[in-house]
Amino acid sequence: MKRVALFPGSFDPITRGHESIVLRALPLFDEVIVAIGINEQKQSLFPLEQRKEWIRKVFSDYPAVSVITYEGLTVELCKKLDVRYILRGLRTSADFEFERSIGQMNKKMLPDLETVFLLTTPEFTALNSYIVRDIIRNGGDASQFIPEGISITNHHRK
Ligand code: ADP
Repeated sequence: MKRVALFPGSFDPITRGHESIVLRALPLFDEVIVAIGINEQKQSLFPLEQRKEWIRKVFSDYPAVSVITYEGLTVELCKKLDVRYILRGLRTSADFEFERSIGQMNKKMLPDLETVFLLTTPEFTALNSYIVRDIIRNGGDASQFIPEGISITNHHRK
């Protein structure tokens, strides 16, 4: 059976931190599905299709990486796709506390599911989409935080 990992998040926008987690997960899994969650309560800065397009472009040389969008519970998506592994990145102890409760709740709802955590590489510990959004919103240059091959500016905003 193929080992498939689902990497859920907002990816608003994708950063080098996300890219690094996916690339480092590739030797561990046959496939990694980047899943952009549509969260009605969380207003995104960039349109969904645009976020998807950026991710597609970043991983265009990696056939094992695909990108989808979804609504609702991540465990329901895992059930539907018959995926047994959720991939998440860990930066700080705050991430850990948050991830622990979600991971344990998910395990309660779907006992076959395992959440696999990769520690962020040190240079990306401080990197998050929120700060990148703030830089772009204020007209700054966020290119060093964004994967190579894509460019994100204020014009891409919703
Ligand atoms: P969320 O909105 O759930 O925080 P994100 O799109 O911000 O989703 O992140 C999705 C996943 O990517 C999470 O597991 C998060 O911990 C991880 N991640 C985000 N930034 C980094 C980074 N700089 N290094 C490692 N993992 C990261």
